[in-house]
Amino acid sequence: MEKKELLYEGKAKKVFTTDDPEVLIVSYKDDATAFNGLKKGTIEGKSAINNQMSNNLMKLLETKGVPTHLIEELNERETAVRRVSIVPLEVIVRNVAAGSLSKRLGLPEGTMMKRTVLEYCYKNDDLGDPMVNEYHIYAMDLATEQELADIAKMAFTVNDVLRNYLKDLNIDLIDFKIEFGRTSDGTVILADEISPDTCRFWDSSTGEKLDKDRFRRDMGGVEDAYQEVFKRLMGH
Ligand code: 5GP
Repeated sequence: MEKKELLYEGKAKKVFTTDDPEVLIVSYKDDATAFNGLKKGTIEGKSAINNQMSNNLMKLLETKGVPTHLIEELNERETAVRRVSIVPLEVIVRNVAAGSLSKRLGLPEGTMMKRTVLEYCYKNDDLGDPMVNEYHIYAMDLATEQELADIAKMAFTVNDVLRNYLKDLNIDLIDFKIEFGRTSDGTVILADEISPDTCRFWDSSTGEKLDKDRFRRDMGGVEDAYQEVFKRLMGH
């Protein structure tokens, strides 16, 4: 399978068309950004880690009944995926208070939530991805009621599957962001990536952060954290 034209270049990846109109190639980059692109940097080795980790987790999710865009890993940094049109929502699932939820609601980071929290943000860089609820989503025609029901169900399944899987690797899944896309026949499937860029992973014993917060918050040890999660995942 060969790359044809560059379709899109995002903060962390490039997406190319192929000979097959239903297939795209995603090429991950080591570039890292935070705070809507205000902070820029590089995380050495992140492209290979995120590509392979995301593919492994998507394979696991497929076995648990979550349809994903994954077709085939082509090499360390590149993967063939099903072409979808992205539903313009960031779907966020939270088990423990952290990040923007802690700020917004005044809950100290690490506070266990009594119930899993599901949030939606409208994917729009100019607006800084504002949080929206179901009423906004229907009013703006971002997704249908059936699509949102499917998305919510899949998001909770993703949480259950990943949480259990990571627990065995001594990692707590604090929260994560996923995105969904529509295939040409209108089916909604899991797209984008699942990696330390998009999840909060805390070591279950020490509470040490093993994710992009180390970059966002200038904590150091960013590469080591990504390597550590990758090592635990691949050794499993
Ligand atoms: P928060 O809203 O607390 O900043 O993020 C919640 C979770 O979603 C975190 O795991 C974070 O990594 C992920 N997340 C939210 N928005 C984004 C985003 O724009 N990009 C990435 N990579 N992750 C995000």
